[in-house]
Amino acid sequence: MSSTKIPGWAYLFVGLVVLFVSLYLNYQKMLVFILFGIVFIALGLGKIIFAKRKAPPNPQKPAKYCHFCGQLLAAQAQFCSRCGQQSIVKSSAHPALR
Ligand SMILES: [Zn+2]
Repeated sequence: MSSTKIPGWAYLFVGLVVLFVSLYLNYQKMLVFILFGIVFIALGLGKIIFAKRKAPPNPQKPAKYCHFCGQLLAAQAQFCSRCGQQSIVKSSAHPALR
């Protein structure tokens, strides 16, 4: 079975359960399981923090404007969405205002 799709909260949950059960049963004999639980909690927290840092909603892409009408285009656009001209100008500078 693959474990690539396990979310962070699942690690947290398993870690907490292992930690509390081992604490409840016998603190000294279950020391390995307590460490195991702590490792799982750390993994879960790390996954959650990493997932939140990852994937910013709006990554900055270089702006591109239509050479003919000044329409703001997507960076990968081949043709202007407004006038249909081929977009050849790739610049962050805004063209002359209409
Ligand atoms: Zn245009």
